[in-house]
Amino acid sequence: MSQSQTGASDEHELLVLNPATEEVIATVPGAGAADVDAAVVRAAKAQAGWAALAPGERARLLRRFAVVVDEHLEELAQLEVREAGHTIGNARWEAGNVRDLLDYAAGGVERLTGRQIPVPGGLDVTILEPLGVVGVIAPWNFPMPIAAWGTAPALAAGNAVILKPAETTPLTALRLAELALAAGLPEHLFQVLPGAGPVTGNALVEHPGVAKIVFTGSTAVGKQVLTKGSALLKRVTLELGGKSPNIVFADADIEAAAAAAPMSFLDNSGQDCCARTRILVQRSAYDRFLELLAPAIESVVVGDPADEKTAMGPLISRPQLERVRSYVTEAADSTVGIRGTAPEGPGFWFPPTVLTGIEPHARVAVEEVFGPVAVVLPFEDEADAIRLANATDYGLSGSIWTRDVGRALRVSSAVRAGNLSVNSHASVRYWTPFGGFKQSGIGRELGPDALTAFTETKNVFISTEGPAQ
Ligand code: NAD
Repeated sequence: MSQSQTGASDEHELLVLNPATEEVIATVPGAGAADVDAAVVRAAKAQAGWAALAPGERARLLRRFAVVVDEHLEELAQLEVREAGHTIGNARWEAGNVRDLLDYAAGGVERLTGRQIPVPGGLDVTILEPLGVVGVIAPWNFPMPIAAWGTAPALAAGNAVILKPAETTPLTALRLAELALAAGLPEHLFQVLPGAGPVTGNALVEHPGVAKIVFTGSTAVGKQVLTKGSALLKRVTLELGGKSPNIVFADADIEAAAAAAPMSFLDNSGQDCCARTRILVQRSAYDRFLELLAPAIESVVVGDPADEKTAMGPLISRPQLERVRSYVTEAADSTVGIRGTAPEGPGFWFPPTVLTGIEPHARVAVEEVFGPVAVVLPFEDEADAIRLANATDYGLSGSIWTRDVGRALRVSSAVRAGNLSVNSHASVRYWTPFGGFKQSGIGRELGPDALTAFTETKNVFISTEGPAQ
């Protein structure tokens, strides 16, 4: 058995469990460093042919891929329910998001234009060239959409992609690779290599033939990826964690704010980097807000993710369950202000939990729990709200509830985060940019510039003066 540079075993197998039942649904061989080497060689060859295709032909194939994903939407969604415990409603949206990302990226292929810059004595143009082979390292919380955030624009810009899904959720990624082939994408252009992070993920990061890594996951691993990638001057985009504030001013529509708050941190069982897990409420509205929040949390239906009526399913794994539980256990029992319900028995279940009376600097108030747990903290005035909102190392998302337009704009400007919403919790759309400030990441994904992030700019000057004598 060979060993990778990290000491982790090269030959390994992934056990895929249904998080709602703990049943084993698949075993998947993990790719070792030699498999990554071979995949990079194949990808480089496929990329050369892909980049040489007419832009309209690349766009047509990506649109065809979107159609094939749409034709298999229900199958992909049901697979995600089983491997990730996502509610069926969410899983259908996620498969639809892959389709939409492919369509949107396909629309960019013929629009990926350089510039013409005035220069004396000739013509100066910039050309946006593909990077080559791109590695996408995806997490388990949104296996399909996050894989597609990197993959769709990278392919559209003329690159090949090697996707490494998370250990716990390789199945939808593997199916997407099959669908890409069925749609007519060239063989080896989009490869999926499941495997352990320190083996397969690390091999991609350390491979000199991989020009860019798009990483989504924990801040700790993201920093390692950046350090190792930068040793090779690799392009690295990081989408990391969050601890996003939901700031509720007393002048807001408190009923609407309280009604929207539960799913802003319970969606996907709180395993969402944008989850609004720090609910900051102006003191004069604090009691009223909690009074409204309690029944809203208690009525959230937690259970079988395959049931259409379910709003929240299980956590992804036992380690994640233990991690979430440890944060709540550490905070004294007296601070559990509101608790919803969760099934008993097998499965990685944790009930919706709201903590009150917590110190603003407590671990649970500033660290990413990645579970259905939020804290509610009171604030006095606008300056206090901004101070509290920024009192975390993260800066990914946030919401501001107020009827005062001036305040909405002032607070949006003062909160150090990449994606803010006013009187809403919506922060992710495939056609608007997404990414974090501070420890939440580097770079932006999605939006109108998504393809450009997968190109190198080449400047070419053509002299009109004729050859020098
Ligand atoms: P992780 O960072 O370990 O895993 C994310 C991805 O990175 C996976 O595909 C994993 O296999 C890969 N990976 C792990 N080690 C690697 C390495 N040395 N080199 C290259 N790739 C590597 O995250 P996790 O352990 O699955 O989750 C832990 C915590 O991270 C969560 O509780 C949550 O707080 C955070 N998280 C955030 C997001 C997000 O969307 N920002 C997603 C997942 C997890």
